[in-house]
Amino acid sequence: MKIAVYPGSFDPVTYGHLDIIQRAADLFDRLYVAVLRNPNKKALFSVEERVEMLRLVTSHLENVECESFDGLVVRYAQGRQASVIVRGLRAVADFEAEFKMASMNRSLAPEVETIFMMTSAPYSFVSSSIIKEVASFGGSVGKWVPREVERRLIRRLRGGGEGEG
Ligand code: ADP
Repeated sequence: MKIAVYPGSFDPVTYGHLDIIQRAADLFDRLYVAVLRNPNKKALFSVEERVEMLRLVTSHLENVECESFDGLVVRYAQGRQASVIVRGLRAVADFEAEFKMASMNRSLAPEVETIFMMTSAPYSFVSSSIIKEVASFGGSVGKWVPREVERRLIRRLRGGGEGEG
């Protein structure tokens, strides 16, 4: 059984993430989409809200499970018996940080391989942060995030609920 993990912030999940999730779910028997609990990164949505939105938008994918984790990604992967970490690549700008992270992870756990999936063209410029910025100025983001995510974004940006630090 081939198991992979797809870790990230997912604050919130976008169609760019969903595209990677769908394609990775085709490649692996089981895919864990995992929200990193990172107290140093300020987020708009709480970890629980982000996991809930991921579950909603992946409910049609039977071999996908969404959850959160803390600590090292490689330890989390080992705990899930996963041999692969999936990451998405958008532009050259992603490369340097991803290269550092993959190299560090390989030295920590050589048996866990990191694979990169190229973004699909329509989502090459989509990131959670640009979506939040556009939505905060009242722009429509319905092309880039599922309807329920857009609804929650608008509500949160109008001051509904707290998010987390
Ligand atoms: P992080 O904060 O760890 O970068 P993100 O939630 O931003 O987490 O992204 C998780 C993963 O999804 C990363 O590998 C990122 O490169 C990838 N990703 C984000 N947006 C897209 C997109 N539009 N197309 C392809 N991959 C993406």
